[in-house]
Amino acid sequence: MNVEEFRKYGKEVIDYICQYGTNIEERDVAPTLDPGYLKKLLPADAPQSPESFKDVLEDFEQKIMPGVVHWNHPKFFAYFPSGNSFPSVLGDMLSSAIGSIGFSWASCPAAAELETIVMNWYAKALGLPKAFVSDAPGSTGGGALQGSASECVLVSLITARARAISELKGQTSVHDSVFLPSLIAYASREAHSSVEKATKMALVKLRIIDADEHGRMRVDLLRQAIQNDVNAGLTPFFVVATVGTTGGCAFDDITEIGKVCRQVSSIWLHVDGAYAGNSFILPEMRVFSAGLEYADSFNTNPNKLLLTNFDASALWVRDVMNLKSALNVNPLYLRHEHLSGVDYRHYGIPLSRRFRALKLWFVFRTYGIRGLQEYIRNHMALAKKFEMLVRKDERFEVRNDVHLGLVCFRMRTGDEPNHMLLAQINHSGKMHMTPAKFNGRYVIRFCVTYEHATERDILDAWSQIKCFAEEILRDHQLESSSVPTTPEGSERTSSEPMAPVAGKPPIKKKLTRTKSLRFSFTRSISREQYQSQSEHLMDGCTPILVVDPKTLQENFQKAADDNEKNNSNGNTKLKDISDVDTDEASN
Ligand code: PLP
Repeated sequence: MNVEEFRKYGKEVIDYICQYGTNIEERDVAPTLDPGYLKKLLPADAPQSPESFKDVLEDFEQKIMPGVVHWNHPKFFAYFPSGNSFPSVLGDMLSSAIGSIGFSWASCPAAAELETIVMNWYAKALGLPKAFVSDAPGSTGGGALQGSASECVLVSLITARARAISELKGQTSVHDSVFLPSLIAYASREAHSSVEKATKMALVKLRIIDADEHGRMRVDLLRQAIQNDVNAGLTPFFVVATVGTTGGCAFDDITEIGKVCRQVSSIWLHVDGAYAGNSFILPEMRVFSAGLEYADSFNTNPNKLLLTNFDASALWVRDVMNLKSALNVNPLYLRHEHLSGVDYRHYGIPLSRRFRALKLWFVFRTYGIRGLQEYIRNHMALAKKFEMLVRKDERFEVRNDVHLGLVCFRMRTGDEPNHMLLAQINHSGKMHMTPAKFNGRYVIRFCVTYEHATERDILDAWSQIKCFAEEILRDHQLESSSVPTTPEGSERTSSEPMAPVAGKPPIKKKLTRTKSLRFSFTRSISREQYQSQSEHLMDGCTPILVVDPKTLQENFQKAADDNEKNNSNGNTKLKDISDVDTDEASN
């Protein structure tokens, strides 16, 4: 493609994007296709000869778009938002066009320096402790942009592992791997599955701590579990607290967790704020960031709630030397003479790095902190509106504390009608939602995601949800038995439309279990885990207990014996934490 063609098609693509955004509501929010749909439409081999760009664009619309889930559709209420905005897209276009690979200061000084500046802007906008801000007086901390929150968790865990092993090993020349069996990490039952994945990759144990009825990690159980593990000769080295859990957007009490972590020098406290961490841009949400001064690292995804398109995940650490020593390799071909320039290759897994800071810089500058605050406050107000509508209807209940954009609701029936409801919602193509298990109950997650979401979007969605629910309840003959009914229309207000359900004809019962699963379940865990684990893995939004109790018991016995020997050699135990049964403590 020559420059003139690029100019022509570039403009066409921008026009296409504008049309797409303007008319997005004409499209179904998500397709109901079967896997393999695209294989039938595209040739098995790449073309030998060049094809015209016009044909490629046409195929894009005809063949690719029908398989797209529209995450920026006003009726997309699934997962968490996929941050997106025009300034961010334009910033990303420039990053692609420049194509610099900014692994070191020398490889692209602007990328390195803008990343430092933007990470400091971002940290200050969220009101993070000064320790995370690299240009704050006396700070040893700083941040870097990673590809995903999962990477942030993994990088933090690997860094914590290196620090703990270095402490254990002291001056000895024992190989690091010898210490792996003694390392143990902790996360709440409600923590994201990326924590489990990180521990799997790092070959360390993970203990799952139970959550309270609000979905917050039980700090008393964490304390007990750590004590018992220390008594058993294990080395607690990593605790993950979550601000804004995936299942119910619960906020762990970082202060209380931090105090427990402080008692054990080997523990690294990581706080995962992938979605809700961004809400700390609002002073009124900072009640949930209290305690971050205890954290060794913190991550948040501007690509979820800060209008920045994927990929952009921010990770801050209290001491960048920890990162650098855990991840540093330094071959001659990457060295340069500008020693005071930041080399971000030491801050994460890949060598090559996109110029990600550009899109975030565009977003901060074009919205301003105030614009970003308004956007998040709008999501909060709309979620509250939806919560209020659900609570007003006795047939439904809200299961989570609604602090941000997520409402977890269900009909006051067994799980099956709720599976059916979600299946109907998603099959309609007019709305998209996901399931979760929150506080032991199956819930439907309704998350406000669209940048320009309005009350009308919420009212329309609620109206359609009620239509589906009525049909399901009628079919299950539940209205007249245990479930109180709401007289048709009695709670309707003039601003609350009762439009007929649009879209595909409702799927007629009885959906087979398999079919209903296809529409209603989004699993983030592997099939083998799904099949082999206990019932709390139903939806994949809830993380997994990976420590097998029998093996654990055997290990405990062995570790306790070793510990006994160590103690008689004069080694100390953790003090002031009561001795209770660890299995009970950790669910
Ligand atoms: N942490 C939390 C709390 C999340 O909600 C998610 C995803 O939704 C993740 C981590 C993983 O995010 P990513 O897809 O960026 O790895």
